[in-house]
Amino acid sequence: MSDRTARVPNDLRAFWMPFTANRQFKAAPRMFVAAEGVHYTTAEGRQVLDGTSGLWCCNAGHKRPKIVEAIQKQAEELDYAPAFQMGHPKAFELANRVIDIAPEGMEHVFYTNSGSESVETALKIAIAYHRARGDAGRTRLIGRERGYHGVNFGGISVGGIVANRKHFGSLLNGVDHLPHTHLPENAYSRGQPEHGAHLADELERIVGLHDPSTIAAVIVEPMAGSTGVLIPPKGYLQKLRDITKKHGILLIFDEVITGFGRVGAAFGSQRYGVTPDLITCAKGLTNGVIPMGAVLATAEIHDAFMTGPENMIELFHGYTYSGNPMACAAGLATLETYREEALFERAADLAPYWEDALHSLKGLPHVIDIRNDGLIGAVELEPIAGQPTRRAFQAFLDAYEAGCLIRTTGDIIALSPPLIFEKAHIDQLIGTLGDVLKKLG
Ligand code: PMP
Repeated sequence: MSDRTARVPNDLRAFWMPFTANRQFKAAPRMFVAAEGVHYTTAEGRQVLDGTSGLWCCNAGHKRPKIVEAIQKQAEELDYAPAFQMGHPKAFELANRVIDIAPEGMEHVFYTNSGSESVETALKIAIAYHRARGDAGRTRLIGRERGYHGVNFGGISVGGIVANRKHFGSLLNGVDHLPHTHLPENAYSRGQPEHGAHLADELERIVGLHDPSTIAAVIVEPMAGSTGVLIPPKGYLQKLRDITKKHGILLIFDEVITGFGRVGAAFGSQRYGVTPDLITCAKGLTNGVIPMGAVLATAEIHDAFMTGPENMIELFHGYTYSGNPMACAAGLATLETYREEALFERAADLAPYWEDALHSLKGLPHVIDIRNDGLIGAVELEPIAGQPTRRAFQAFLDAYEAGCLIRTTGDIIALSPPLIFEKAHIDQLIGTLGDVLKKLG
């Protein structure tokens, strides 16, 4: 028994695992015990190529020295500081560094601890912003089918993944959904698909259904990740921007996946050339190493709260761990790593190679669509009748056995490698996936 195997506990019952088939997992557990660069090490001592950047978050790869050192140093210097009525320098410094790379017009950063919390925070800011301006009737929210905005009640209400919603009661009132943008005529698109900008016109219909003066915000992922990598059709996001602006509705981009380089720019807003009013982010902000999220806001939104007596609390919202010093230290070191290694540019440079590799899987058994942008991609498989998700899950298990970590959502295989991937890693990942698909029943 190796030293690492010895560290794996025998009793796995107590931990109720999230988004996991617990019974299946506990019967044949898959455990990672170490990670470095683009590889995980399993409890059995096998190397597994990380084709997903953890959960779309370890954009700079694993065990990055600068980040490790920053966390170690911070733990010795200032482990925790109260988040309310007190500050510490790194929280301010990190906010400035995030704004340096954020889309033009984003000027303020509100910290959270996850993508889900960023979403709740952004929705609350949107509603409170209108109220602060004397527009308290604007409380309705508009999300999108197949949208993923985390798992809290606001997020699943505006989200549109049915399985995430249907078990949890009546959810928030006053929510409508735009149609998703996954059109069959866009199959095998490379980069942004041609068809679907017209789907944004549905927003006019929903606005017409209610009075525009009742609607606070529209929230979408610029590129929908968790629902299977749906790249925005050309012109679609700009249409959403134009319609929201026309009606005084805030536009929120949920950039929890697209933030920090995934699509070959710091943010998806920059990649797709459309700037919203609020941006949610998390994951890549700290390279996934310490939980942290943020909401980025324009000066207009922030300043609407900065009225009234100076000693008055402007926004009644926050978390014990908002701007946690350990997370801020990790965030600063992460952003430095991205900059020093020009990782966002690297993602853009590697994107054509990635695209060609991914699309070489066209024609393999069961493959019905392939799509990509930046360093993200998806391979959609034909579901087995009456057994949705089974085929893709089998591919996940087989790929893991063959030394590659991939991710599945429904019958879609989603890939999002660390931005430090070399071309040889792309070849290995796509080669392994090809072999797996050829053998899949
Ligand atoms: N929004 C989006 C767009 C996401 O992709 C995710 C996570 N995949 C979340 C929100 C939720 O983030 P978390 O799991 O950190 O709460």
